[in-house]
Amino acid sequence: MYAPLPLDPTAPPVTINLFSDTQTRPSRAMREAMLDAEVGDEQLGLDPTVNALCARVAALLGKEAAMFLPSGAMCNSVAILTHCRPGDEIIAHESAHIIEAEGGAPWALAGARVHGLHGARGFFTPDDLRASLRAPSRYSAPQTLLEVEQTSNLGGGAIWPLDVLNQLAGIAHEAGMATHMDGARLMNAVVASGIAAADYAAPFDTVWIDFTKGLGAPLGAVLAGSAEVIDRAWRWKQRLGGALRQAGICAAACLYALDHNIDRLAQDHANARRLAAGLAGIAGLQVETPETNLVYADVAASGRSPNDWAASLRAQGIMVSVMGRTRLRLCTHLDVTAGMIETTIAAFAAIN
Ligand SMILES: *Cc1c(COP(=O)(O)O)cnc(C)c1O
Repeated sequence: MYAPLPLDPTAPPVTINLFSDTQTRPSRAMREAMLDAEVGDEQLGLDPTVNALCARVAALLGKEAAMFLPSGAMCNSVAILTHCRPGDEIIAHESAHIIEAEGGAPWALAGARVHGLHGARGFFTPDDLRASLRAPSRYSAPQTLLEVEQTSNLGGGAIWPLDVLNQLAGIAHEAGMATHMDGARLMNAVVASGIAAADYAAPFDTVWIDFTKGLGAPLGAVLAGSAEVIDRAWRWKQRLGGALRQAGICAAACLYALDHNIDRLAQDHANARRLAAGLAGIAGLQVETPETNLVYADVAASGRSPNDWAASLRAQGIMVSVMGRTRLRLCTHLDVTAGMIETTIAAFAAIN
């Protein structure tokens, strides 16, 4: 589903980067915050800036404890390794990032397979989950973890309703499973819905937020849970080489992001809606109305492939991503202005 970044050395410079919200560059003010960070040995628990960040995120997510990790993918792997044993089964949506875009990490690192449930917009229902559960027996893989993505990336940035999350986690817990939320874009869901991060996180044993997507930091993600689960997770952080040294330099960027880059996600959502509305008026494009910052356009009816569209846009300095055989994804973020959205809509119209 996720296509690699098209690297064409002859292409003009990228002036409008809608490829991903990972493409944000740390601002000067964020870099200045990094410059002044107090630091120590993170691995020994002695980096005051990392400790401050973990305390902030634990409070934000309503959990007892948190740990700093270099990336969201490592948060998923650490959590899966903490919850699962080799041979276990994880239940997630079939489009989940842990299935599509983490190099097969659950299988390769944890020896756990991920069973993907179907459903539009990256969602499945409590009935789907119930139907996927088996009575434990010596013949079948133990089903030990439920994983959901808030927002659903390949589901178009769609926001899981809180009551559905509560029902899903209730069913999983009743079946003796643990629950994990991939919150790469949880803060987008929070800003768009007005529902607190801690409310979305409450029914999940582990949850993380990413600082390298819309929050604009160069690296870093924070995984939160009970003190007991984070304590167990530390062994996996150590084993994977995710225990760090003077990581406060990076945590300072994340603290800056918490203070300055959350409320402004609303602008990204407004830009995404304007972009979708503009593209919807172009013949051959089928555009889903975005709930957050991801805009998916299906180009099947245009008679041109998504790669063809992406290449034509790239020739004009506009970078988008190709998702699967018929879709383009355009992602708004803090380095994308309202003016760039208008330029992009005009570029699409000109190609068509
Ligand atoms: C980006 C992303 C990840 C991985 O986060 P990184 O910080 O890039 O490792 C995981 N899940 C989802 C849904 C993502 O979009």
